[in-house]
Amino acid sequence: MNIARVVVDVPASQTNHVFDYQIPNRFKGSLKKGMRVIVPFGPRKIMGFVLEITDESEFNKLKNIDDVMDVTPVLTEELLTLGKWMAEKTLSFYISAFQVMLPQVLKAKYHKQLQRLTEEGLPERLEQIFAGRDNIDYEEFTSRNGSLSSLQQAINDGIIEVNYLVHSKETVKKMTMIKANHESFDLDEEIENLPKQATKQKHILHFMASQPGPIKQSDLLAQLGTSRSTLKPLIDRGFLIDFKQEVYRNPYDERRFTRTSPLPLTNQQQAAIEPIHASINQRQHEVFLLHGVTGSGKTEVYLQSIQTVIDQGKEAIVLVPEIALTPQMVDRFKGRFGSEVAVLHSALSKGEKFDEWRKIQRKQVKVAVGARSAIFAPFENIGIIIIDEEHETSYKQEDHPRYHARDVAIFRGRQHDCPVVLGSATPTLESFARAKKGVYQLLTLSERMNNATMPAVKLVDMRDELHAGNRTMFSTQLKEQMEARLQRNEQIVLFLNRRGYSTFVMCRDCGHVMNCPHCDIALTYHRRNERLKCHYCSYEEKMPMICPECESDMIRYFGTGTQKVEEALQQLLPEGRVIRMDVDTTRRKGAHEKLLNQFANKQADILLGTQMIAKGLDFANVTLVGVLAADSLLNLPDFRAAEKTFQLLTQVSGRAGRHQLPGEVIIQTYTPEHYSVQLASQYDYEAFFQEEMKIRKTFQYPPYFFLTLITVSHPNQAKVIEVTQTITQLMLKYLSTQATVLGPTPSPLTRIKDRYRYQCMIKYKNEPNQRKIIQKILAHYQTDIQKNELLISVDLQPYQLM
Ligand code: ADP
Ligand code: ZN
Ligand code: ZN
Repeated sequence: MNIARVVVDVPASQTNHVFDYQIPNRFKGSLKKGMRVIVPFGPRKIMGFVLEITDESEFNKLKNIDDVMDVTPVLTEELLTLGKWMAEKTLSFYISAFQVMLPQVLKAKYHKQLQRLTEEGLPERLEQIFAGRDNIDYEEFTSRNGSLSSLQQAINDGIIEVNYLVHSKETVKKMTMIKANHESFDLDEEIENLPKQATKQKHILHFMASQPGPIKQSDLLAQLGTSRSTLKPLIDRGFLIDFKQEVYRNPYDERRFTRTSPLPLTNQQQAAIEPIHASINQRQHEVFLLHGVTGSGKTEVYLQSIQTVIDQGKEAIVLVPEIALTPQMVDRFKGRFGSEVAVLHSALSKGEKFDEWRKIQRKQVKVAVGARSAIFAPFENIGIIIIDEEHETSYKQEDHPRYHARDVAIFRGRQHDCPVVLGSATPTLESFARAKKGVYQLLTLSERMNNATMPAVKLVDMRDELHAGNRTMFSTQLKEQMEARLQRNEQIVLFLNRRGYSTFVMCRDCGHVMNCPHCDIALTYHRRNERLKCHYCSYEEKMPMICPECESDMIRYFGTGTQKVEEALQQLLPEGRVIRMDVDTTRRKGAHEKLLNQFANKQADILLGTQMIAKGLDFANVTLVGVLAADSLLNLPDFRAAEKTFQLLTQVSGRAGRHQLPGEVIIQTYTPEHYSVQLASQYDYEAFFQEEMKIRKTFQYPPYFFLTLITVSHPNQAKVIEVTQTITQLMLKYLSTQATVLGPTPSPLTRIKDRYRYQCMIKYKNEPNQRKIIQKILAHYQTDIQKNELLISVDLQPYQLM
């Protein structure tokens, strides 16, 4: 066993396989799979992951491994398997797939420190090296020829641990601790010896003499109402010892959470949880789709399933959308499971995230709650994986590796023989279709808790408003209802899609939208040449001067930004206090939470925002939700536009009247007759599913067909077109005749940062050779790609069609 198979940190086609290296004697037996190593690669030394340890190689004259970066593996055996599978499935490099599973901090430069965890002596050789100290540098350990395998043994026995000290101050938090020096002094005696007037110092010594262990300096000073200058002489004389200790940054203060206990389940919840329990108890992997309206008690079902898993000594992963990782959601998990919960949230600092990750790695917690990347939590005994709001597109990573957390969850669920629960009030068509076919098991919660009803939804036809002479963005109804709320001191949530991004053309008179006749998506307006283009299939036409439907000349492109709405709102209701939440106002860390807290504390009457206010929020005093322009979502150039509209309207409506006060929802639209608007206002998911499935079938979209999106970008437009053209032709030539290949077509965002973007889209049912063909194409363009001019991105499960 002296050869290691290593994937090196060079993300390129030529290096996307394992390289064999010789394991020098000093690492033999202690180097394990899943550790990172430093290896010579050409003239450089680079990082790599050890995938396998073996004793044969096809090559002779192997180079030696230079150094070992980890003392214990950072990736478990299962995660290594997962990484390989993920790289192949998403057509990304192995190295990217392994890197994405690790916290940021482990990608930075750091040095390792060994820390003694026991008061008893260490094994003889280790004790010699430690020489009575609590901490030593790992470098010192190796330079004194410490044995790696005896160190690993000590780590397993829990008497030593490895700390990563990162070379950046934000990542390690240290705290000054004070302890009594009982070994050298009898403190009671020393108190007597102190001068009479040193009462404060006597007080400190007295206190420290009775302390069982070290105490934080800040706590000590606070408790005794004294200062560092009083303390200092005691340290100088050696009675007390001060030292720095690395502490877990704890972004979630445990004391803040009131503990909750399981609620007696309703009949519907009971019926839903039983099959999940059966799957846990029988160790049988199964995927459940928990379809439950907002407020139907899904979260309670998650919590109690997790309890069962914990009772069996196993672990749980819970994914929630980034945006829902609000304190409200975290509270519910911390409230039930307390310090058993690690929270992985992108708003945490790198260091905080790393600490949470280490709690998982060290098995100090049982539950990992987090956004997308929490799916890689390095648990080894998983009993359940839950994905809440499974329809959220943020579960798909839009960068290499382009994985979907749902696929990863199911892969891990199989490895651990445990259930995967997908929960949503508005499941994706893909998931619901699978549940209908019996691939997933459907569990339904059709009733809200406490017999609460969903708030009534009113549709306002903006064409009528225009005809009645109202040219503002607020309908008369919405205005009146807002005024009524302001008078009653109730609160309002106003929702606007996106930040002024819009590309479609609509007639304000009759609501007609210019659509592609072949693809059933809105045509994209190109201002430069006044043309409308379909970015799926290349169809194009001239921008019409009059509406082809009603001959009105009020046909134009559509869009308003949140900032404009805020200004209009201030004119309309000068007495209303507005909080605007969009990408601009929430860019700074903590801003999101701060704005929401202000709204919760009633420092504003109106919360105006984009997507980010749509979900997870629960304010008792909100009795009116307004959707300003349902159409801007409905006409995104995306075949999922209707589905997204349905999801969003349903979710936004769920924000109103969740408590005692009844709620009301007003949706403004130019196309109130559209099925997704109609059915969302009636909360009829099933009917929406049926309607939408028909369209997907007719126009060959998922879930009936698979899609591949290849996007090419380059600073030179002619070059982009040429490459995309070639790719399109190659795909046409090598795929079966059943596949439809569309392109080359300009992407809806045709130019980003001076790079032109064109795309090729493939619709297919079964093309086993597709990956190979694409790989060949990528290899062919490798030199251009490496020069960083040409970019070819391949998405085998596209969600973002921009
Ligand atoms: P969902 O996750 O489906 O939106 P929640 O789990 O948030 O629904 O439940 C809505 C409300 O009902 C919450 O306040 C929750 O505490 C309460 N609830 C859930 N289950 C029960 C139950 N079995 N008995 C009483 N109240 C419950
Ligand atoms: Zn018209
Ligand atoms: Zn088209």
